[in-house]
Order: sequence, then structure tokens, then C-alpha cells
Amino acid sequence: MLGTSAPPSGLLDAEGAQEYAQLSTQAAALVARHLAQAPTPFSGTTPASSRRRVERVDLDRPLGRPEEVLAEVERLYLRDAVWFHHPGYAAHLNCPVATSAVVADQLASAVNTSMDTWDQSGTATTMERHLLSWTAGRLGLPARADGVFTSGGTASNTHALAVARGHALETVGGRLPHDLHRLRVLATADGHFSVHTATHLLGLGDDAVVEVATDERHRMDPDALVAELVRLETAGLVPMALVATAGTTDLGAVDPLARIAQVCRAFGVWLHVDAAYGGGLMTSLRRRHLLDGIERADSVTVDFHKTFFQPVASSAVLVRDAASMRHVRHHAAYLNPADEGPDAVPNQVDKSLQTTRRFDALKLWCTLRTLGADGVGAMLDAVCDLASEVARVIADDRDLELYQRPQLSTVVFRYAPDWLDEDALDEVNRQARRALVASGRAMVALTEIDGRAYLKLTLLNPATTVADLAAVLDLVREHASAAGDCWVDERQAG
Ligand SMILES: *Cc1c(COP(=O)(O)O)cnc(C)c1O
Repeated sequence: MLGTSAPPSGLLDAEGAQEYAQLSTQAAALVARHLAQAPTPFSGTTPASSRRRVERVDLDRPLGRPEEVLAEVERLYLRDAVWFHHPGYAAHLNCPVATSAVVADQLASAVNTSMDTWDQSGTATTMERHLLSWTAGRLGLPARADGVFTSGGTASNTHALAVARGHALETVGGRLPHDLHRLRVLATADGHFSVHTATHLLGLGDDAVVEVATDERHRMDPDALVAELVRLETAGLVPMALVATAGTTDLGAVDPLARIAQVCRAFGVWLHVDAAYGGGLMTSLRRRHLLDGIERADSVTVDFHKTFFQPVASSAVLVRDAASMRHVRHHAAYLNPADEGPDAVPNQVDKSLQTTRRFDALKLWCTLRTLGADGVGAMLDAVCDLASEVARVIADDRDLELYQRPQLSTVVFRYAPDWLDEDALDEVNRQARRALVASGRAMVALTEIDGRAYLKLTLLNPATTVADLAAVLDLVREHASAAGDCWVDERQAG
């Protein structure tokens, strides 16, 4: 089989190092070929067909040879993957990734550093901390700020709200679980659903999230916020946190942070800014002002895997005051015994909801050291400009209707010729999107605004051009008008 010497273990050790170098070259070449040649963003495979092919694999019968495994991965995964770098991909908040970050990701996986304690990470901990200080600095948070990398915006929001819960209970002298039912979290209807996930996990009631009204651009209305806070106070309820959003997922709306911060200060309410999407604005050369006021936040979520062009996962939660991390701190004798003072060992697990954790920060490190923050900011500015340009194309189109002028890099619109009524439009736009995904030729998202179906382009690829997107719009129009004809035929038949 493998000759007379001891068979290689298949593990990445001194003996396996050579094989690793060869295999990763092969794997990289394979991905490079698909990246260069992907004719469409998606193959259009269906869940049923995908299941048939995948479930045929007998996991109890290994292939053994790494080359065969790679070939199988190509057949099952790469051929039917969704390619975010393709100019026809414009569905969700997925970015084409920085090459330097991908290489860093491989590197961190190979070393397999774990970020929970200093004795499993060494300098990786210091590098992560340096990046968090840099982020806090860019946001304008004070020197006593702190933070930690997480697996995503959902985790970062949950973390921030766990800290806010501890802070609120401490402030009102409340106890767990006794006083949980009195806690409220304020957010707009455009805020991310993870706010609901988090309040649920944190044991707050089903009615814990209080909706704050927005203006016509879907930004939080600070006067409505004041009214809600007064109402809660009168009712004897405790506003545990206000979640402002810097870049809502659908419309890219940035809540007026400076005015909201003022209100929060006046009422003594924890201000969490969910900048999962808009966080990248901290590097923007022309749009940084949209984040004005974020420096007054008590906590902030930033998803580097959205507007910093990082591979999944890379996110961070920042807190204004390092001491507030005590609300999520637990000590284990075998891992991170309580140890304070100037010589304390820096254990990141002391402020993390995860224990074993990847060195995801290395990706951002390598990106900043390669492209620089200005390079990242220029790419974000480019996709925001692109959104404005394609919005103009849509506004000028007879059959398409622009919902609103874009605020960041999303464009919400629908196919809306005047011969279809509102219910027909919902159905036709849904069908157009379904047909488009099935064709694999372009990917756009479907959403609902004011109870109506809309299509959405989420732009994070700075290499995509207006012409690319005009082609995507042609496909949308083609599928939608076919669906519209069907609708009319069915009506006439029925
Ligand atoms: C994407 C997003 C999240 C969730 O982040 P994940 O990384 O997907 O968990 C939270 N809030 C906003 C505003 C987002 O756009």
C-alpha cells in the first residue's frame, strides 16, 4: 500500500508538513480554477438533487487518498457552491474576500492556535488585542474600552446584550431571574432579528423588545425614542438597552447616532450600536461621518466578514468600559483562574462567550497590513457609489420601481409595471426571484417592506460594474414579465 516505512498519520506534524505543503498547493489551484472560470454565481442545483448526490456518500468507507477526496469535494461542493466574487452575485451581505485574509485563515488553521488563554495562543492574543484597540480607536471609544472577536454579528449582539443585562440589573439592584420580566430592549422594526434571539436566550420575556418608530428613511426617530422611554419609566419597566443600527440589513439605514446617544445619556440607558454592516464605514474616506456619535456607545458590534472583506467568521464586540466585561466572566481552575493585578496573564476567555476559539483576528491583521484601512475604505466607498448608480438605472426604468435612494450598498426595488395590481406584484416578484436562483445566472435577495415583496441587490463587490448589474436587471425583468404573463393567463382562465 504505502511502502515499508510506518504509514503517515495524516496529521499535520513534522512528518506531515511536506504533504501539507503539496496538498494545499493542489487545493489552492483547484479553487483558483473555479474562481477564474465560474460561468455563473450558482449552478442552480436544487436541495433535492444536492441531497441525492451527497447522501450517496458512505461516510464509513473512506477514500483514503487525499487526491480522491479533493476530487470528491470538487464534485460535491465546488461545482455547486455560491460564488460571491461573481459579478452576478448581489443577494446577501457576503463579500468577495481579501486574498491576504484567506492565506491568513489557512495559516491560523494549520497552527490551530486557540484564543481562550495565553498559554494556548501566545502573541496571537496580543495581536488580537492590538486589533481591538485599533478598532476602538477608529470608533472613537475611550482608552478604557475593550472587546473580543466573536463568530458573527449575532454572537456580538448577544454578548453586548448579556453585558447590558448585567449592567441594568446591577443599576436597579435587580436579581436573576426575578427581575428579568421587567427588562426591555428598544430597537426599530428594521433592527436585526438577532436582537430577538438574544433577548430570548437571555431569559427576557416575549414582549421584551419594544419597537421605536422610524422616519421615512427607516432611521430611528429620536423623539419617538424619548416617548417610549417615558412610557416605560411610567410603567415601572427597566430599559435595559437601546439597540441602534448603523446600517440596517435591508435598506442600509444608519440611525442618527449622535442624537440617540444624547437621549440614552439623559435617561441612563445602555446604548448598543449594531454596526455589523455599517462598521466598515470607520475606514471610509467619504462616509465616515455617518458613524458620528458612535464614540458615545456603551457597546458596538462590527462584522469584519461583511464590510472589511474578510472570510467568515470575523466579528467583534466592543465595550466602552473594559470593567463591564465582568458580567460575562467565569473562572475555571484548570483554565483561567481568577488572577488580577499588573502581572495578570491576559486570557481572552475572561471576556468571551466562547471557550476554544479560532485566531480569526489574523485575517484582519494581514488585510490591514496589506491593503491598509484606506484600501478597505475605498472598496466600501466604491460599492456604495455603485449602489447609487444602479439605483438611478432602476429609477429610470419603465418596468422597475426603486423603493428608496440607497443609504449604503443595498438597492431595494421591484418589478412593477402599471398593469399589475399590488397582490400580483408580490407574487410576480417572488416568482422572478425563485426562477432567477433556479437558473443560477444571477442572485438577488427577496425581502418584505411595508408588507410588500421587494427584491434587493446587496453590493459588496468593488469589481462589479453598472453594466454587470444592468445585465442582472435584464434577467430579473425577463423572469418577472414571464411570471406576470402567467398571472394574467391564470386570472383569465379562472
Ligand atoms: C448581518 C447582520 C447581523 C448578524 O450578523 P452575523 O454575522 O450574520 O451573525 C446583525 N446585525 C446586522 C445589522 C446585520 O446586518
